[in-house]
Amino acid sequence: MQKKITAIVLLLILAAFGLWWWRGDKAASAPSLPPAPAEKLQVTASGYVAYTLLKQIGGERVQVRMLVPPGTEPHSFEPTPGTIIAVSASDLFVYVSPRVEPWVPDILRGISDVNALEAGPSHKDQDPHIWMTPYGALEMAQRIEKALIKTDPAGKAYYKERYKQFEAEIKALHESFGRDLAECRSRAVVHVGHLAFGNLANAYGLEFRALSGTSHQGEHSVQKLAELVRFIRKNKVQAVFTEEMIASDLADTVARETNVRVLPLYTVEEVSKTDFDSGVSYGDYMRRNLHNLKEGLKCRVQ
Ligand SMILES: [Zn+2]
Repeated sequence: MQKKITAIVLLLILAAFGLWWWRGDKAASAPSLPPAPAEKLQVTASGYVAYTLLKQIGGERVQVRMLVPPGTEPHSFEPTPGTIIAVSASDLFVYVSPRVEPWVPDILRGISDVNALEAGPSHKDQDPHIWMTPYGALEMAQRIEKALIKTDPAGKAYYKERYKQFEAEIKALHESFGRDLAECRSRAVVHVGHLAFGNLANAYGLEFRALSGTSHQGEHSVQKLAELVRFIRKNKVQAVFTEEMIASDLADTVARETNVRVLPLYTVEEVSKTDFDSGVSYGDYMRRNLHNLKEGLKCRVQ
């Protein structure tokens, strides 16, 4: 009996010591260090739209890797065997749509058991660049939120809170676009690039003219350039807009010919190395877009 009690006391002391040690260890590492990467959900994003929205909703609980490297345009990216390995090793793979990333179906065909989410538009006849309106981006973020909760149920409250924060940002963004683009000297957005901004123009009552189609493969014919130049002259357009991954010499030619300014618009699907490294968010890009639209269209609110 005596022996048994001694053993129990000894066990209790050991348990208490263990508990103290475990708590001490937790307390020492918790405040300053973020959770180790191994504990985070391993998520793969096709390109920057999926990447930035995953970061927005996933926050500290996810480790996101992006397939299309910064400085590369997403429509004509070519996957490597490494791409397939990265996707098959991840807990969740998020892409936008095969119409934006025609190389995605090939990857999915090569992997038997993959937890994948198509976050883009559900209607096939819709312009796939739905994130170009704030509420389109929110729609994608909502799908991402649901997929994250399904993959990592323990993070439900966290993901819901992050989504709520993003929703507030989107609401404010939508209000700014509506208010600031209400009164402008010109409503024609002439874009020397692909048809990425049609949804944005429609949402805020602007007219959108682009050089090529919804992919980056559209031909930049002399005839199309000449059409744009005629349109700019006839409609007293003040600026032409360009995009990062399309050679700016085309925009420069149009601008020289018509004596207007060149201003960039950001598609978010493309990211420069500098913007990627500094973590430029969806909201940051859209605020830059609004700023440049206000300047180029000569809007009353500056
Ligand atoms: Zn595009």
